Amino acid sequence: MPRPCSVCLHVDRDRIDRDLVDGKTALEVAGNAGLSRSAVDRHGRDHIPQSIAKARDIAEIARGDGLLAHAVGLTERAARMVDDAEEAGDRKMALVALRETRECLRFLDSLRPQPDSERDRLVAILGRVVEPADRVRVADALERAGL
Ligand SMILES: [Zn+2]
Repeated sequence: MPRPCSVCLHVDRDRIDRDLVDGKTALEVAGNAGLSRSAVDRHGRDHIPQSIAKARDIAEIARGDGLLAHAVGLTERAARMVDDAEEAGDRKMALVALRETRECLRFLDSLRPQPDSERDRLVAILGRVVEPADRVRVADALERAGL
């Protein structure tokens, strides 16, 4: 098992990361933090990009959550408009709001992960049971069968 990174474990890691991102040299950062230059070099090369990638993933999830919440909010508003229009006896507006609600629901439904196609499931099963040497023949047979 590789040795844990002394910079990742350092009590001032956040400051060290900021200094590296700000362009300070590994030698400067190492001197300020009582670390070896090679450890700071390695950390800057291997671990800061990982941290940034994780932060991007988290930001993307948060963005997706925000968009989903917005779409749900639109759906709820459209549904309330149906109720309001019906209460006001405005059947034409109720019908318009009903159509809009239906569109919102369709949109939300389209966001659900799609199940694998029949072919994808078949290929996954065959991938587990067919010997690698026979897979090309099986794939050709599936193609010929239109699957
Ligand atoms: Zn590190």
